[in-house]
Amino acid sequence: MPGPTYRVAIVGAGPSGLFAAQFLSAHPGVQVDVFDRLPTPYGLLRYGVAPDHTSIKSVATALARVFDSPTVRFLGLVRFGHEVTRDELVAGYDAVIYAVGASEDLRLGVPGEDAAGSRSARAFVAWYSGHPDAEPQSLQGVRQAAAVGVGNVAVDVARMLAKEPLALDSTDMPEEVLAELRRASISDVWVIGRRGPQQASFTTPELRELCTTPGVRVSVEPPCSEWVDDDLLDRRSRANLTVLRDAVERSSAEPAEPAEPAEPAGHPRVRLHFLFWRRPVELHGDPVTGLVLERTRIGPDGRVVGTGETERLDVQLVLRAIGYRAVALPGVPFDEALGVIPSAQGRVLQGGEVAPREYVVGWIKRGPVGVIGTNKSDAKETVQQVLDDLAALGPRTDRVDVLGLLADRGYHPSTFDDWRRIETAEANRGASFGRERMKIEAWHELLDLVQRERPGGPVPPGH
Ligand code: NAP
Repeated sequence: MPGPTYRVAIVGAGPSGLFAAQFLSAHPGVQVDVFDRLPTPYGLLRYGVAPDHTSIKSVATALARVFDSPTVRFLGLVRFGHEVTRDELVAGYDAVIYAVGASEDLRLGVPGEDAAGSRSARAFVAWYSGHPDAEPQSLQGVRQAAAVGVGNVAVDVARMLAKEPLALDSTDMPEEVLAELRRASISDVWVIGRRGPQQASFTTPELRELCTTPGVRVSVEPPCSEWVDDDLLDRRSRANLTVLRDAVERSSAEPAEPAEPAEPAGHPRVRLHFLFWRRPVELHGDPVTGLVLERTRIGPDGRVVGTGETERLDVQLVLRAIGYRAVALPGVPFDEALGVIPSAQGRVLQGGEVAPREYVVGWIKRGPVGVIGTNKSDAKETVQQVLDDLAALGPRTDRVDVLGLLADRGYHPSTFDDWRRIETAEANRGASFGRERMKIEAWHELLDLVQRERPGGPVPPGH
């Protein structure tokens, strides 16, 4: 006799949500609906992983297979708190998993931060990744740029600025983005850490890729001779120091560069400066003309403190890449201090008690740390709690039909077939530029592709 059928809702079709769907789909009797506010699945795989990191992006191909399963559906263009509420999902499913990631960025909190030319790396990444909500980013007049933070996001944006645009031609970046990068003539990129190279959070392969970008000349301050490299350092930090040391050595062995870098038509030489033990204290100008940095050291309590000694960099672009921040979902418990939905092994906690049938996975569970693959073990842990609880609680006897509810309001979410149509249109657009694929970034074009098959359309006001 077949067992009961369970229905699980996942909110967010990014890597953590799809890993959870993958684990759940291995269990017969579990049906999964994956909701997303966008008509495109994959979250940060599509809109966060750098366009030239094609091998990481291929994870999307593997994750896409989850939708081949007849028990897993993609339901796009559904905004949590707008088209559907927490109460409706909890009433409509035997389990609800929140997998919404971290959609905001941390701020520096220094004067001048809101001037034109001072932007979040998140906004910059969204732009070059062709996110439909991204603001266009002009690089006109930018010769010198700074990325604040020494994590992998800073490394990504620094590489995008430093890389010869021709080398990005084979990516799926929108043509407008590539055109802006081709027009830009950036000569200097600073990457700024408030602590030393030993404490930087970038990972070694990413750092190596940046430091070996063709045409890039690397310098590091304070110089290698002043770094502490002892047995107490972990393997990653030691490997990072080696990469930086090698890069500086290679760069100083190269012939002296021309006073002015070659124009974009030639092969631009970009000077990449790593500046450690400095923190931004002010931005000058609007638009930005300079970034004031204060030297830092570790204070008696182990925290970073300023020394009072400042210096100014002439820059026309400042990208803060100091970490992401999650935002609360309407009606769902949220720990403002930690920026996560409070949970125990993936079970949502409300007032310290388990909120039955609600779960969390990914950055909204553990904070914005870890690479794509980290989400796999994370999802496994959460799914185990879901399965244990389903077995203990059984299916709801009074399940509300959420899609019926939406249909009664005249609303029909977009589907995986709609996404396939977007994919085909992106392949066609790419082919017309001699590329494999080119992202469609305009909302109206995405919605047009979704609506084409559905007169009346599913699109709610606000999209
Ligand atoms: P991150 O790794 O946490 O790095 C943030 C950096 O900002 C740190 O260097 C931090 O310094 C610095 N910072 C924080 N607050 C600051 C302030 N007020 N002033 C100056 N500096 C400040 O975060 P992320 O780069 O946003 O990356 C998020 C996660 O995504 C990471 O796990 C990362 O590995 C992952 N990711 C991976 C890839 C990839 O695999 N290719 C690409 C992108 C992102 P302190 O250490 O001193 O706090």
